[in-house]
Amino acid sequence: MLRHRGYQVHIYDRYDRIGGLLMYGIPGFKLEKSIVERRGQLLIDGGVHFHLGVDIGGETSFADIRAKHDAILLATGVYKARDIAALGSGLDGIVPALEYLTVSNRKSLGDDVAAFDSGALNAEGKDVVVIGGGDTAMDCVRTAIRQKAKSVSCLYRRDRANMPGSQREVQNAEEEGVVFKWLSAPQAFLGDDKVRAVQAQRIHLGQPDATGRQVPEVIDGSAHELPADMVIKALGFDPEDLPAMFGQDGLEVTRWGTLKIDWRTMMTNLDGVFAAGDIVRGASLVVWGVRDGRDAAEAIDQWIMAAADAPRAAGAGR
Ligand SMILES: Cc1cc2nc3c(=O)[nH]c(=O)nc-3n(C[C@H](O)[C@H](O)[C@H](O)COP(=O)(O)OP(=O)(O)OC[C@H]3O[C@@H](n4cnc5c(N)ncnc54)[C@H](O)[C@@H]3O)c2cc1C
Repeated sequence: MLRHRGYQVHIYDRYDRIGGLLMYGIPGFKLEKSIVERRGQLLIDGGVHFHLGVDIGGETSFADIRAKHDAILLATGVYKARDIAALGSGLDGIVPALEYLTVSNRKSLGDDVAAFDSGALNAEGKDVVVIGGGDTAMDCVRTAIRQKAKSVSCLYRRDRANMPGSQREVQNAEEEGVVFKWLSAPQAFLGDDKVRAVQAQRIHLGQPDATGRQVPEVIDGSAHELPADMVIKALGFDPEDLPAMFGQDGLEVTRWGTLKIDWRTMMTNLDGVFAAGDIVRGASLVVWGVRDGRDAAEAIDQWIMAAADAPRAAGAGR
């Protein structure tokens, strides 16, 4: 939208390809990568400048980028994976979901991926246990099935009716051979150097907490082992600490760490710095990212136009 209106638009991304989670998170069987590539090429053809492999807050500072441009849009997503504090969680073979999915996507894009070829992030022939009940967990179980895992189980601490992932995806996964272990949570991971089993406990849903959700309570004496030579942690994502990463202590965040914006202007508390997508909403959906992006583009245009008019308006009064 901004390019259509005649602005020079530069996109900086630490990934080496265009598309964010649409390229490296969402599996190819849900979203064909050729579609994402085509959209990216259309933007390049339209004159949008991409600077890939640029980590803002790393080798390139946020202050440098801000000084170079009239307005900035932060759409950095949420990438801090939630972890499990259970005995043995440091064993080999226990991997974060996004790492697993990214490697799988890279392989399907034709990249040389040592972690896949070595078997470290390849489910083929393995007993796989995925922990979590959201859409990311569903993507992991269905990817593991396609990689020809020996068995794939999904451990979730609530029941089917209370899981955050889509019911359609659960049904798809079941049809493909995934076994769901509802009302189960990991207590420990067993193995010497490498994981060989998950020690799980059964859960009972107790009284609702302040948010209205029933609290999962462990059933004493219910510990049991599930064989596992690969465990995928899919417990959700939180925002990275952007004020610290960007050296901008004054950048305001909510108590969840997402960026605080004025929804009427899409602007953060830093002048000319706008924000959109998951970094504002928390882990969300593509449609909301697109909608926010459009709203932010409109807001940036208005803000730049107002700034351009301001000196003239001030001059007219003299
Ligand atoms: C596994 C998975 C499956 C999903 N499946 C679906 C689905 O089926 N349908 C759906 O609607 N939604 C799905 N989602 C959610 C959806 O992908 C996100 O809501 C959407 O991608 C958010 O867009 P965004 O632009 O805010 O962030 P992202 O898509 O995460 O893009 C953020 C970009 O910012 C870059 N970046 C971050 N920090 C920096 C930095 N410091 N310097 C430079 N670049 C940086 C990243 O490299 C990335 O390219 C899924 C999410 C996951 C994790």
